Amino acid sequence: MPSPFEYAPAPESRAVVDIKPSYGLFINGEFVDGHGASFKTISPATEEVLAEIAEADEADVDAAVRAARTAYDKVWSRLPGRERAKYLYRIARIIQERSRELAVLESLDNGKPIKESRDVDVPIVAAHFFYYAGWADKLEYAGHGADPRALGVAAQVIPWNFPLLMLAWKIAPALACGNTVVLKPAETTPLTALLFAEICQQADLPPGVVNIVTGAGGTGQALVGHPGVDKVAFTGSTAVGKAIARSVAGTSKRVTLELGGKAANIVFDDAPIDQAVEGIVDGIFFNQGHVCCAGSRLLVQESIAEDLLERLKARMSTLRMGDPLDKNTDIGAINSGEQLKRIRELSEVGDAEGAERWEVACELPTKGFWFPPTLFTGVSQAHRIAREEIFGPVLSVLTFRTPAEALEKANNTPYGLSAGVWTEKGSLILKMASSLRAGVVWANTFNKFDPTSPFGGYKESGYGREGGRHGLEAYLK
Ligand code: NAD
Repeated sequence: MPSPFEYAPAPESRAVVDIKPSYGLFINGEFVDGHGASFKTISPATEEVLAEIAEADEADVDAAVRAARTAYDKVWSRLPGRERAKYLYRIARIIQERSRELAVLESLDNGKPIKESRDVDVPIVAAHFFYYAGWADKLEYAGHGADPRALGVAAQVIPWNFPLLMLAWKIAPALACGNTVVLKPAETTPLTALLFAEICQQADLPPGVVNIVTGAGGTGQALVGHPGVDKVAFTGSTAVGKAIARSVAGTSKRVTLELGGKAANIVFDDAPIDQAVEGIVDGIFFNQGHVCCAGSRLLVQESIAEDLLERLKARMSTLRMGDPLDKNTDIGAINSGEQLKRIRELSEVGDAEGAERWEVACELPTKGFWFPPTLFTGVSQAHRIAREEIFGPVLSVLTFRTPAEALEKANNTPYGLSAGVWTEKGSLILKMASSLRAGVVWANTFNKFDPTSPFGGYKESGYGREGGRHGLEAYLK
């Protein structure tokens, strides 16, 4: 549908960030050269090289784990909770003060629209540090025993879809509980983690309490396999999560895994349709669909399917795709060439299996990695696009006739991270919420995140919970 009017460009200035030509590793409170090779991090929207990043090898990982151990033994585990809280509050306030810088850097390195990094990611990051700062001196009241103790050194490996937010989900509870950490950001999005390292320096956090080692899967493997870590926290793909679970089996390391998802977003015939359309769009096109809990399977009641799909297509046609730093942009770039290849391949499988593809007609930029908002109709439960995580802006649409059928289809997945229910009936919401095998169920909304609320999955979506009071348990004896 032609747009009734065009928006003038409204780019956020990137002058607010100071990207260095190269970055070392953050070990024991300082940036140091790594012993390994280096790699480039690029802007996925333009393929411009942003910086050269050190790749930590085993010796570097060992140095980081040792620094974390010393900081744990000599400083952090000895501080009373209220002292740890002061550092966390300080970090939270600096994140707020430097929020524009963090948001611009996140959008540059990740490709996500600035309005999301500015209004969603960074505020929730600060909120996480504030929230867990509040717990640091109240751990004995958290319901995890009368005298809860830290575990020690936590090895934390995170993905590229919410680089800073995943860092906050990992680091804030770990530090609040008295652990020290070595965190490895994803290889395509290391820059905000390195800026966070500067924030730790600015906050005068004792050296070694937070260490950041950059690199790819090999660095992650060296970190989680290091005998000096007491706890492994991983967010990423189910395949790597399984490999990690195998590698730590038989050791005393505690593990939490936050893995993939294939969430059902279920719309009943009495749902407020336009509101549901907004929720569907938010569910699958937020962050280009690079969301583990994305509503990537739309289950719509047959009697309203035609009407809903018409409205959905009209709404999708108004989504603005392009420069992530433009404040009007709704859909940014796909994070990497590799991820784009996977999205294309799985979409082609959808075509080959007989589903019908519809995509927004738009001109894609010639440089960078882009994929238009897309939906598939005529999808059956056996189709790979209904079963596998595409992790991109691609929605698979299925229909149902009764609540029982909706439930059966929604739960027919190896995953169990999240789900959405759209109906005016409170009783139906409660029935669905208690029968859906999903860690989070949203009713008449989608993709709402709050530090006070636990998040995590069933089945192949992983185990353990992050967020809320429950999130403390993963970091306490
Ligand atoms: P990935 O598993 O390939 O990589 C995640 C991280 O693990 C990266 O930092 C990577 O370098 C590292 N890694 C890779 N191989 C490793 C190994 N053998 N040992 C240790 N570390 C290793 O996943 P990805 O493609 O970066 O991220 C997308 C996936 O993450 C999706 O499946 C998505 O659903 C999932 N995810 C889950 C959640 C959640 O909370 N459940 C949140 C965000 C993303």
